[in-house]
Amino acid sequence: MPMISAGLYVVATPIGNLEDLSLRAVNILQNVNLVLAEDSRHSRKLLKHYGIHTPVLAYHDHNERQLVPEVIERIRTGKSVALISDAGTPLISDPGYKLVTAVHAEGFCIIPVPGPSALICALSVAGLPTDRFVFEGFLPGKQHARQQRLSELEVESRTLVFYEVPHRICSCMEDMLDCFGADRIATLAKELTKKFETIRRGTLGDLLNWLQGDPLRQKGEFVLLVQGNSKVAANAGISEATRVLDILLQTLSVKDAVNIAAGILRYNKNSLYQLALELTGKKNKVSD
Ligand code: SAM
Repeated sequence: MPMISAGLYVVATPIGNLEDLSLRAVNILQNVNLVLAEDSRHSRKLLKHYGIHTPVLAYHDHNERQLVPEVIERIRTGKSVALISDAGTPLISDPGYKLVTAVHAEGFCIIPVPGPSALICALSVAGLPTDRFVFEGFLPGKQHARQQRLSELEVESRTLVFYEVPHRICSCMEDMLDCFGADRIATLAKELTKKFETIRRGTLGDLLNWLQGDPLRQKGEFVLLVQGNSKVAANAGISEATRVLDILLQTLSVKDAVNIAAGILRYNKNSLYQLALELTGKKNKVSD
């Protein structure tokens, strides 16, 4: 590969299976002047697997303040630097934010080299709506703060995605059960791409029972995905349909109003027709 241009390359690495490193990532990691790794010992295993001998420097939350000016200086002098984390995509619940903002501030090149991330990997197999979702990362470790955050999320209608560590997975799910109810559908994605990969979909109650059924099931890395609050979604849909129909019914017949509202909202005509009848019935009562 020819010499690559100066800048910061933000490179995604595998979340378990070493084969999940893209060809482009291998080329970049082989040819940059320096690799910044969250845990240099951990990343050396990956680099060794691919026969990559680029110098590696540890870059983590505790030394980033000191390292950022140093890395910026290297890029200024024409060097190429790759940032990787222990697993997945850097900056996704991982260090790198200060460095990336500093590179932007200096106007230097920043190049994404996409690849695995546990959140997208889990979403792709969760069997939950993926058209809109919220990534919440790790919930607070302290129970009071966690319950507070969960209560804010109770009305969220989009799919919720959380990262969790083994020693907190049960207490976190117990708090979810209290807040969202035992019947809320969820998916537990454990040890993705690894030997003991497990993907279970069920109610929060089922999943907690399963976890508590064997301490071994609580080991490993977890992504927990929770279906959004469907009552909120349905109510939001009804209030939007009510608003649109209310306006149209001021000048149009029920049939015309329903046809136009169905075109605008892409909702089922039958349910809009029922709603329109209810609305006109209400209006008639008011004007009687
Ligand atoms: N940057 C990573 C990414 O893009 O997914 C996330 C790093 S974060 C410090 C680590 C958390 O990601 C774990 O505690 C777990 O919640 C999740 N995770 C990482 N690898 C995973 C895997 N193979 N299976 C399930 N969850 C994983």
